[in-house]
Amino acid sequence: MSSEQTEAVKTGNIQEIVSEYEKKIYDLQQLLEVSLSLCSTLDFSTLVESILYACMGQFHVLGAGIYVLNALDADSFHLDSNYNGIDLNPNISYIIPMSNPVISLLESSNKAYTVSELVDNLPDGTDLNMITTLKPSLVVPLVQHNHLNGILLLGERITLADDASYSDYEKEQVSVIASLASVAINNAALLERSSTDMMTHLKLKYFFYNVLTDKLDQALAGEKNLSVIMFDIDFFKRFNDTYGHACGDYVLQTVAKIIKSSIRDKDMASRYGGEEFTVLLNETNTEDAMIVAERIRSKVEQFDFCYEDQHVKVTISIGVSTFDKILNPLTSPKLLVDQADQALYVSKRSGRNRVTFADPKLISEVKLDN
Ligand code: GH3
Ligand code: MG
Ligand code: MG
Repeated sequence: MSSEQTEAVKTGNIQEIVSEYEKKIYDLQQLLEVSLSLCSTLDFSTLVESILYACMGQFHVLGAGIYVLNALDADSFHLDSNYNGIDLNPNISYIIPMSNPVISLLESSNKAYTVSELVDNLPDGTDLNMITTLKPSLVVPLVQHNHLNGILLLGERITLADDASYSDYEKEQVSVIASLASVAINNAALLERSSTDMMTHLKLKYFFYNVLTDKLDQALAGEKNLSVIMFDIDFFKRFNDTYGHACGDYVLQTVAKIIKSSIRDKDMASRYGGEEFTVLLNETNTEDAMIVAERIRSKVEQFDFCYEDQHVKVTISIGVSTFDKILNPLTSPKLLVDQADQALYVSKRSGRNRVTFADPKLISEVKLDN
């Protein structure tokens, strides 16, 4: 029992103690809920959303944002695109390089700071614009195994009191949530790295199949379609043979970027094999999938690939297949991918640099041919 509580018992003010314990029990229940919600997802953007939501509810702040490490090269922190109630200034780059002293201060102290405390603890001239302009009420490091893996910014507090500062008890609560969040972020980042092809930064084949299996189950249970696009670079071997393997790698990385930039966040691109890629278009019918496929084909054809001052022309062949409960009621992800592959084969055979849809008649002709 604290000295204040002992004093309260002496003065007979039991009600005060009961209220205090009730508040603590409530806060612990909230922490359990936060912990459960942070443990239940490994998807990075869902996780960030959960962390922000938990903090806003728990600390009564109007907004929150989080700086996260770039999962693949880890050379700077950037403000995650899921932020709430924070106004960004278009003239400011919301990136914190590893060399900024604020990184080592937060990592070594593992302590939450107000903006003025940060300024007091950092060398004069430290660039803090990317933090101060967001007007956080508290800057909280997320540290796991002595490494900073995130910086949480809590926005303006909603309070009736004149003093909006955080009490020691609240700071303790913030640090518990911060440690839960840093474990969850670490796990999500590990999954991100282990499911990503390091050369193209697209997802790996096994991960593509995991997601496709889930989405197909959902499509089977609901009314929505689902499409798969398969791409293969035409005469890719020539780039390696003529200009060297490094040129082949440049072509692969550039085609991957074009594919990624042509789809929505909720779609998923993967490197399926050497110079083969897939895109999973969730809740998408054939007509829309064909539009996306054609857009990517044309972008690649028109892109000026330039490797060591050599301009090279690149084209891709494409196959598209669609799960449809009535027209194409497949139950296995592998069958849907096989259909796209067979359509791709037709594109190759009929001249390359084109898109083919896997309609059932075409597929049976391909099978007869083989
Ligand atoms: P097609 O139009 O019929 O698809 O012809 P292609 O030359 O593209 O097909 P092929 O399957 O003969 O060649 C694929 C080549 O891709 C062979 C392999 O060496 C190369 N490759 C696979 N992975 C990589 C990689 O990571 N980097 C580089 N540079 N080349 C790769
Ligand atoms: Mg191939
Ligand atoms: Mg090829």
